[in-house]
This record gives sequence, structure tokens and C-alpha cells, in this order.
Amino acid sequence: MFTADSARKWIQLSAKQIQENKDQLSQLDQTLGDGDHGLNMERGFNAAVDQLDQDTTDAGKVLKGAGTSLLSKIGGASGPLYGTFFMKAGTSLGNQDRADVQELSKAFRTAVDNLKKRGKTEQGEKTMVDVLEPVTEFMEGQKDTLDPDELEQKAADALNKVIEFEAKKGRAAYYKDKSIGKQDAGAQSAYYLIAALATVLKE
Ligand code: ADP
Ligand code: MG
Ligand code: MG
Repeated sequence: MFTADSARKWIQLSAKQIQENKDQLSQLDQTLGDGDHGLNMERGFNAAVDQLDQDTTDAGKVLKGAGTSLLSKIGGASGPLYGTFFMKAGTSLGNQDRADVQELSKAFRTAVDNLKKRGKTEQGEKTMVDVLEPVTEFMEGQKDTLDPDELEQKAADALNKVIEFEAKKGRAAYYKDKSIGKQDAGAQSAYYLIAALATVLKE
């Protein structure tokens, strides 16, 4: 179900989504941060596409490589976090050429747990975790098949809820309760990554 080709398409499509929504991501970050999230993500994902492992049949290796590119190129708070997410997902997939739904959800669990550890954060603190973890929980509830439309819907629902959270992490935390009612840039970019994955899983 999820192969090295899926992994490559996921990274490429994520880069495209980020590129198309770069200004929106920076605008959100302008309101609750320093306004560079779109640029950071664009730089990171363009590097991940440039350095994509085109030869391997190993999905884990593709994601690990992408994580390394993101870690070194995004910069900012989100670089180490997304870098950790993709590297750990890749490590969890190991060297197999095809992951099923359970293996993919296990990879997401490992990835999100390590991201949380790295960011010292939990769900509900108005970050990318508030999209990535509900999506992971949804995947964990699936058995043999994963409906891509449902996956994207879960991400969209989770993203909507983030607006009402109060920021507890990163620059947005300085705004305290003034952050309520505004969207978090990292949650928005996490949504685009999941939307890209849903598109790949439809093929
Ligand atoms: P910076 O804040 O250094 O400019 P970015 O703008 O690229 O970095 O990323 C900001 C995003 O990173 C936030 O919108 C939030 O989603 C996420 N973030 C910041 N700190 C944390 C953290 N400790 N844990 C999880 N996510 C975080
Ligand atoms: Mg920023
Ligand atoms: Mg910054």
C-alpha cells in the first residue's frame, strides 16, 4: 500500500502544496510569530525534493532522507520538529518495500511521539501536533484499509479546532489568550502534508 514511490510522491506533493500556500503560511505566522513559516517550509521541502532518494525501493529510506533535508534546511522551530517527524517515521518503516495500514500508523505514532518529545509539547497547545496526533489516532483506529477522504477530513476537522486553542509553545505563546481565535501556522502546514498524503493514497 505505501511504497518508496508513495513516499517520493508524498514529499513532492507536499512541496507543491507548501509552495502554493507559502504566503498564507507566512501570513499566519506573521500574526502569531515572526512571519517566516512559509519561507522556512518552502526552503525545507525544496531541499527534500532535490535530495530525494530516487533509486531505493525502501519507503523508510526515502522518508529518513527527507527528514534529514528538512532538519538541516527549514530552520526555525519547525525544522527540528518536522525533521524528527519524517526521520522517525522512516526509521519505524525500516527496510521494507511495502507498508500496510498498521505499519504506516505505527510509523506515524513513532514520529509524532518523538516530535512531541523534541518540542516538549502535548496536544492542545496550538501547534502542528494538534493536526498530526488526531490524524495518527484516526489511523490507529483503522484495520486493513485507510480511506483517504476520511483521512483528509480528520485533518481538516483537527485544524479547525486549533483556532480556539490558546498557544502554549513557540513564539505564539507570548500572545497568551490573544492567540485564541487565530490559526497556527504549523498546524496549517501539517494539514497540507496530510492532504498531500491523502492524495497519494488515492492513486
Ligand atoms: P519559528 O517560530 O522559529 O520562526 P516556524 O515559523 O518555522 O519557526 O514554525 C512555527 C511553528 O512551529 C508554530 O506555528 C508551531 O506549530 C510550531 N512549534 C513551535 N514550537 C513548537 C513546539 N515546542 N512543539 C511543537 N510545535 C512547535
Ligand atoms: Mg516563524
Ligand atoms: Mg523564525
